[in-house]
Amino acid sequence: MNEGLQGLAIRRTTEPREVPEDATATFGTVFTEHMFYMRYETGRGWHGPKIEPLHALGLVPGSSMLHYGQGVFDGLKGFRGRDGEIRLFRPEVHARRLRRSAERLAIPPLAEEWVVESFLRLVDIDRAWVPGERGTAIYLRPTIIAADPAIGLHPSHSYLYFLILSPVGAYYASGSAPVSIVATEEFVRAAPGGLGEAKTPANYAASLLAAERAKEAGFTQVLWLDAVERRWVEEVGTMNIMARLGGEVVTPPLTGTILPGVTRDSALALMRSWGLKVSERPLAIDALIAAAKDRTLSEVWGTGTAAVVSPVGEIGWRGERVCVADGKPGALTRRLYDALTAIQYAEAPDPHGWMVNVPVFN
Ligand SMILES: *Cc1c(COP(=O)(O)O)cnc(C)c1O
Repeated sequence: MNEGLQGLAIRRTTEPREVPEDATATFGTVFTEHMFYMRYETGRGWHGPKIEPLHALGLVPGSSMLHYGQGVFDGLKGFRGRDGEIRLFRPEVHARRLRRSAERLAIPPLAEEWVVESFLRLVDIDRAWVPGERGTAIYLRPTIIAADPAIGLHPSHSYLYFLILSPVGAYYASGSAPVSIVATEEFVRAAPGGLGEAKTPANYAASLLAAERAKEAGFTQVLWLDAVERRWVEEVGTMNIMARLGGEVVTPPLTGTILPGVTRDSALALMRSWGLKVSERPLAIDALIAAAKDRTLSEVWGTGTAAVVSPVGEIGWRGERVCVADGKPGALTRRLYDALTAIQYAEAPDPHGWMVNVPVFN
């Protein structure tokens, strides 16, 4: 039906650039020399895979994506291991999530094997851009957008899949310094039946004003509550959230409004392998605040590809600010960060088979 990546056409840049000195200074501002793209048209399916020099897309002003947001993306990282090899972290899980996000946005699914192959092929071509220092990575941003040059509201008949790469350092300028988060009752990120479990632009647009308000109030991130009762903790900023309460690690279950994080899944697998008691169960904001006050809450952290784990030092709720334990990164937060990054940089064995080597294709 589809020709797939068999006909991959590669056109290399004729004006190679030096990798800038400060390529990893600010997250997502420097891109590598090439991009991957592929098109979809009704009746033809996905076709025409290409790697070309990074270039502008040339969308007409009436492009449906620009008006109605029919698009999805994902985000994953590749690492230069201590042995010099480049490996991607769980690329097939990210490819699957991209497909699921696409299905929710009525975008025709792109085969997961092709998406993974696009990751490997493009990182291989731009491998000189993968930074080597501990903490740095190559960030992969696969994106699918509606491409019809028309503003009628319906699922587009044509789409563009593209992949770009950005060398990145640690996501937060403050490294692993604890963040302060504030729960909002005014705004919600995602409602039941909505887009919460898809990585799609609308969710991020919906979060921006709340994030600005949180910053004005002196917090780093928003603690998102559920849309119905404004009571159940869902996510923090663009990360999944975990709390260590008494002898248990708690994270909210994936019931449709929460983005199913690959880092979340990996952290759960590690903690279970360490014999910790881990529960995916609803966590009420009042219980979280009460536990912080009576000191049974020992740690809270966010998980996500960008920061891996991000400790939470303080929580704001209804005008009050409460500290999480002593406000410093907790022992389990650090253990998770160390264990995940040791696997990513090939400093430790990879018992779950999470890392995929980027082969040299040509
Ligand atoms: C991407 C994302 C996450 C984290 O997912 P990872 O796969 O761990 O990077 C969590 N929440 C939201 C809203 C996200 O967009």
